[in-house]
Amino acid sequence: MKITSVEIFDCQATWRRGWNPIIVRINTDEGVSGLGEVGLAVGGGHNAYVNVVKDFAEMVLLGADPMKSEKIWETILRRTWWGQGGGIIFFSGVSAIDIALWDIKGKVAGLPIYQMLGGKTNEKIRTYASQVHMGWTTPKTCIVPQEFGEQALNAVAEGFDAVKVDPIFCDDKGERGGWDMTKVITNDKLRLIYQRVEAIRRAVGPDVDIILETHAHQEVTNAIKVGQAMEDLNCMYYEEPVPSLNVDEMLKVSQNVKIPIAAGEHIYSRWGFRQYFEKQALNVIQPDLCVTGGITEGKKICDMAHAYGLSVQIHCCGSPVTIAAALQLEAVIPNFVIHEHIPQASDPKNLELCTPGLKAVKGYYDVPDRPGLGIELNEKAVAGYPRIKVS
Ligand code: MG
Repeated sequence: MKITSVEIFDCQATWRRGWNPIIVRINTDEGVSGLGEVGLAVGGGHNAYVNVVKDFAEMVLLGADPMKSEKIWETILRRTWWGQGGGIIFFSGVSAIDIALWDIKGKVAGLPIYQMLGGKTNEKIRTYASQVHMGWTTPKTCIVPQEFGEQALNAVAEGFDAVKVDPIFCDDKGERGGWDMTKVITNDKLRLIYQRVEAIRRAVGPDVDIILETHAHQEVTNAIKVGQAMEDLNCMYYEEPVPSLNVDEMLKVSQNVKIPIAAGEHIYSRWGFRQYFEKQALNVIQPDLCVTGGITEGKKICDMAHAYGLSVQIHCCGSPVTIAAALQLEAVIPNFVIHEHIPQASDPKNLELCTPGLKAVKGYYDVPDRPGLGIELNEKAVAGYPRIKVS
């Protein structure tokens, strides 16, 4: 079996600002194709991420045996020169390719990917409602505490028993990023930040889990102040209190705040996570399979985390390909804790990129049982987007 062509679908959404999934399809001479995704649907740098797959396809993939995914991974790492330094462009490109190769492998074997990775440890995938501060059923910027409580309740009404909130994402006027969290914050701001999360706790009661998220926007002093202020609210974990660039910053927060610490969407590969494991700077790791190096690398990272007694919540922010890849691995790993579900994921325009649609029901996902990832690209849905083909 040989790879004959690679297609890149640059799904720059006109229907949702700042939402641009990049889906990759690898085709073979035996008619079997596989899907992957570059996991950078949000944020800057889009064009680089589209073209890294094109370049690696030309350098490594055409003519290669798609069943040899481990060899292909290692070849891209060692033979593209810059791979040996890692980085987001490199690893996100590798991720898309690796996931597509696993999809092909599953289809050839007639098995869902989870069967090839060890079979199901987790029969159903517990899921949380992520980013409720942006509005759960419909987009809304939450400003006053009551609105935070209401949006969390919307998610609970759908059956979710865990929610995630970023209480610093906008200021008291509703301006996103309006507070500079790199400067030590004043007590009135800290009080409002606390009250936003407290309103959720009051609304949902003591048994719904709350994940506290600050999107890496704080420096260490604020991260500690905000974390300590929240300690009586019994949060499940505290995500990206500081950026992941310096493991010692994360360690300092973890040593000073009595809430478990989580991070991982900005950490790539075994080599990136290694220092976090060795220093015990995290309690929950959040690798993104479409950023960290694919299913091959994600499985290795999760298994390493298991040896350090750490839990896993895959970071999940993309098209249905991202969701499907996460579900396949989450079904297998013993240290899985919960699946992330963001509002963009359930937007009908996002769901229709692939068939059949994947949807959480009453706070749980079923793991697709069809071969490979268990989904196919919806040609109609991607027809209007730019497409690059390497053959
Ligand atoms: Mg996050």
